[in-house]
Amino acid sequence: MSNDTPTIKRPTHANTNCLENIKCPACGNEDTFRIAVTALATVTDDGAEVEYGDAEWDESSYAECAQCCKHGKLSDFSVCPETPPAANVHPTLLEALEQALAALNTAPRFRVPSLATDSYAIAAFCGRAIASVKGGAQ
Ligand SMILES: [Zn+2]
Repeated sequence: MSNDTPTIKRPTHANTNCLENIKCPACGNEDTFRIAVTALATVTDDGAEVEYGDAEWDESSYAECAQCCKHGKLSDFSVCPETPPAANVHPTLLEALEQALAALNTAPRFRVPSLATDSYAIAAFCGRAIASVKGGAQ
């Protein structure tokens, strides 16, 4: 412990667990993060003294993982345990993708300059996406 890194207490809002639903998507760390907080400090010509207990942050605060140094907004680290990845796939969306894939497979290969790729690559991408969504469901 050094003197120039003051320990800032958790903000006192209703949340009893500051890191609820926060997890690093890169390495899985959910224990320790560095978050840019807004704190009130008493500043004189000699320096600043942080008023402990008034640190605040929100979803748009800068945050970084203490383990792998992934960084971004705190919202980038939010996980919603209620929604597993496959649950938000709309059936109609999947059907549309399957039809798009069928359409791509009936056409000769053509360039898609706006995506810097071609129809075969997109068809393969669609195929992988469909397979990953359907995986286990069949
Ligand atoms: Zn990480």
